[in-house]
Amino acid sequence: MSVRVRFAPSPTGFLHIGGLRTALYNYLFAKHNDGECILRIEDTDQTRYVESAEKAIVDMCRWAGFDFDEGPEQGGKYGPYRQSERTELYQTHASILIENGEAYYAFDTSEELDRMRERQQKSGLAPKYDRTIMRNQTTLGEDETSRLLAEGEPSVIRLKVPHTGEIRFNDLVRGEVVFAARDIDDQILLKSDGYPTYHLANIVDDHLMEITHVIRGEEWLPSTPKHCILYDAFGWEKPKFAHLPLLLNPDKTKMSKRHGDVFVEDFKNKGFFAEALVNFIALCGWNPSSDREIFSMSELIEYFALEKVNKAGAIFDYKKLEWMNSQYFRSYNPSDLAPELLRILDQYDYPKVSAEYAAQVIKLLRERINFIGDIPTFGDYMFVAPKNFDEEYKSKHWQPETHGNIAPLVGMFESTVEFSHQELHDIVHAYITEKQLALKLIIHPLRLMITGKQVGAGMFETMEVLGKKETLSRMTAFLENNA
Ligand code: GLU
Repeated sequence: MSVRVRFAPSPTGFLHIGGLRTALYNYLFAKHNDGECILRIEDTDQTRYVESAEKAIVDMCRWAGFDFDEGPEQGGKYGPYRQSERTELYQTHASILIENGEAYYAFDTSEELDRMRERQQKSGLAPKYDRTIMRNQTTLGEDETSRLLAEGEPSVIRLKVPHTGEIRFNDLVRGEVVFAARDIDDQILLKSDGYPTYHLANIVDDHLMEITHVIRGEEWLPSTPKHCILYDAFGWEKPKFAHLPLLLNPDKTKMSKRHGDVFVEDFKNKGFFAEALVNFIALCGWNPSSDREIFSMSELIEYFALEKVNKAGAIFDYKKLEWMNSQYFRSYNPSDLAPELLRILDQYDYPKVSAEYAAQVIKLLRERINFIGDIPTFGDYMFVAPKNFDEEYKSKHWQPETHGNIAPLVGMFESTVEFSHQELHDIVHAYITEKQLALKLIIHPLRLMITGKQVGAGMFETMEVLGKKETLSRMTAFLENNA
């Protein structure tokens, strides 16, 4: 049987970075096994539904570089792929369980349920639906149940959980997992509005969509015994389960919005490359058993194995993500990145530059910074002549004799043919040898005059990219103003 996995997000907001990892692992596992990865939208909780969320989730997965074989957009023979379009199916399946005696109707009001919980709390018990005393099909009997249903009394359908023994299942990440049946609640399957709960819809769909492996976050582990009971109640074969470790902050607390960015969108907007983020997130919880860290998507597909996913929470190391981003930044062809830089530059009030120039600036500055988005601020002088000059730098490197040392260079630079960094280097070196000057007495003043800042890329390379005209005009203006 071919592998079929699903990413089943609830469209309640932006895609969380943990959600991206779940989607990615599903995708990698499917592709590694020549299987299918499907997208199923779990939108049955109308109270938490956010209309734009489905699109945002799909867009982020696509940005990250993977797509689904079946889903609301692609279609497929197991559709529809939005749970809100499948409600009848869940109702039919809930009825099947009623008929088999595996589920029952319950009529309790929310006040009655509150009172039950209060009583349990007072006696030191964990709150759990007590089907032996509440108003339901078991306590009321068949006739009364039929009467109430016929009268339209609001009702839910609950799963009749066998409260003895243990529920065991094998998890591909965690090994054997055991839950005591007595701790499991008689889960509501169908709500009074006719909508299913997550549990019913999830397993009905996993079964009907012939999902072979359920790969999801660890937070769903407590739901799995309920799902096992449901599979048994239907007499269906269970899929294999794999629960992925939580993503943690470096201080081992759960990654949350309070600690910083958690949405894929945030990382995209910060200027992380999709490939770097994917590479990084793939390694959050999966251990490729080598020291190697840079993997392309096709390499991830080749090496990914669920058996090598760790049980322990995975630390989300932001610094490492930045490092990874810098590695990708430096490996791309600058011309391919130029359109992105031009797009970023549109937000600044700089004169327009060509794509060719943008590519040169990228090549020049990417050794110094991790993000393409930092170019317009870190390297503002590549787009406009500096108006402000670092005071501290100036007081250190612009001495009374500096003017005299620098001025002759203007003419020498003027006479260059190509204005290449090599030519500029040779001129300056010949000049300092002749004048017996230290290189720093020239380089720092040049950097100050041309960029206004202490830090930047190689000075001759910077001058070459700026070009002869611009470099000389900056030098001349500075000399005039600091005579
Ligand atoms: N809808 C659930 C979620 O939002 C799906 C969990 C699962 O994969 O079973 O993550």
